[in-house]
Amino acid sequence: MFENRERTELSDLGEFGLIEHLTKTFSNVNASSLLGVGDDAAVIDNGGDEYVLLSTDAMFEGVHFDLSFHPLKHLGYKAVSTAVSDIYAMNGQAKQILVAIALSNRFSLEAVEELYLGIKIACEKFSVDLVGGDTTASPKGLSIAVTALGTVAKNKLVRRSGAGENDLLVVSGDLGAAYMGLQILEREKKVFLEHPGAQPDLQGHEYIIGRQLRPEARLDVVKILDELGIVPSCMIDISDGLASEVHHLGIHSGCGFDIYDEKLPMDPQVISTAMDFDLNPTVVALNGGEDYELLFTVAQEHYEKIKNHPDFTIIGHATSEKNQFRLIGKSGAAFEIQAQGWQHFKG
Ligand code: ADP
Ligand code: MG
Repeated sequence: MFENRERTELSDLGEFGLIEHLTKTFSNVNASSLLGVGDDAAVIDNGGDEYVLLSTDAMFEGVHFDLSFHPLKHLGYKAVSTAVSDIYAMNGQAKQILVAIALSNRFSLEAVEELYLGIKIACEKFSVDLVGGDTTASPKGLSIAVTALGTVAKNKLVRRSGAGENDLLVVSGDLGAAYMGLQILEREKKVFLEHPGAQPDLQGHEYIIGRQLRPEARLDVVKILDELGIVPSCMIDISDGLASEVHHLGIHSGCGFDIYDEKLPMDPQVISTAMDFDLNPTVVALNGGEDYELLFTVAQEHYEKIKNHPDFTIIGHATSEKNQFRLIGKSGAAFEIQAQGWQHFKG
């Protein structure tokens, strides 16, 4: 399947290069496998008026979360939220989840109960049923993988491809908060380790910390779009950061995007905390990641429905310049947007 070579570093390929390399020799043998690797969820056609959607997300202690500041209840909620978010990114409804956990003997029953309390709260919030999973031992730490199943009416399916020239680029909610929340939590952890007994100073940062520890997948956005009579031309959820996701939409749709710096929606807590950390808020909004907002394009005809909607911000538009992603500053100067989220295996 692969030619023999000595040793290639994973960082030479990056996350998406690696996925492409590993999966490119597979071809589907079932006609029902309509859309495989490459979108937020796979699309299965079993006949009827709906497609089945399938997506999985894994989280590892020490890589995706730090239990010294991440309450297990919130972690359980986050694991479900991140999984169903990929179903919403296809404009679908999540229906069932499977949860696979690996636990070391460091965890007590009470600890795992907390994790499952969070999973249960998320199941209620997103109206999904926990229908199975797997439980194994781990030599060290905790890992949790959630597979989400969903459905979408065939005429409502939205992929990463499909944006047309001049379509409006729209994002739900605000950007950068989860990343800045993480900066606060890591700073307070460092203070605590240097001065045991010190109380963490989280005041005034509640919103951004909540966005990091307990993100909300945007089930409501799928409903709102339906009520507005809008089927986006393409859509993705923001897990790696706006910059990375806009590249995915552009590459899949065969277009470019112009994004306007002053339009990027940010909570005041994000802006003030970014300044405290000597970070440029625009860079945080572009590269922060873990926002779990939906990023989508709509035809110009929907402008009036979107423009003053409290849940949406029009941040730019699609261009005919293939693979050109530009940030336009207030003065009109244009900068190329780099996709930081593509560097997972670096450093
Ligand atoms: P998302 O951020 O939306 O969860 P990912 O970036 O994790 O998506 O994955 C991109 C695409 O690659 C998805 O279609 C996913 O199913 C697929 N994928 C990721 N890892 C693997 C893998 N190890 N084997 C096969 N497909 C994979
Ligand atoms: Mg996704």
